[in-house]
Amino acid sequence: MPEIITGGCHCGNLKLKFSLSKPFSELPIRACQCSFCRKHNVRATADPDGKLDIFIQDKTKLSKYHMGLGVTDFLVCKECGVYVSAVMLDQENNEMIGNCIVNTLDIEQDKIQLSEAAHYDSESAESRLERRRSRWMKVNIV
Ligand SMILES: [Zn+2]
Repeated sequence: MPEIITGGCHCGNLKLKFSLSKPFSELPIRACQCSFCRKHNVRATADPDGKLDIFIQDKTKLSKYHMGLGVTDFLVCKECGVYVSAVMLDQENNEMIGNCIVNTLDIEQDKIQLSEAAHYDSESAESRLERRRSRWMKVNIV
């Protein structure tokens, strides 16, 4: 029976359904050290064999922030300012992949293990795509 964890932004415009293939405690928690993620104090995870559904109530209140290589949408609610997920199109497989911002999940804080600092700044576009293909998960935006 796969575990499902819900989550979302603060005002409820963006809702998440994270379907896991294994216990949440076995997933790595990563604290990306890029300048954007540091400002949000981000802790992120993904389950490569799981998936993330993102439900958007009002698409006009969704910001798809871009930076760096510009290939990633950083999904931020315009209403309440919460950053919920980073997604990109894997063009080779024509599917959306992404991560899940752990801060937005409806789980007890003491169930979240300490995050590991993750530095990706020196990656090329190619190595970034390879890393994400192996670590991120399928994302379905509704
Ligand atoms: Zn919101």
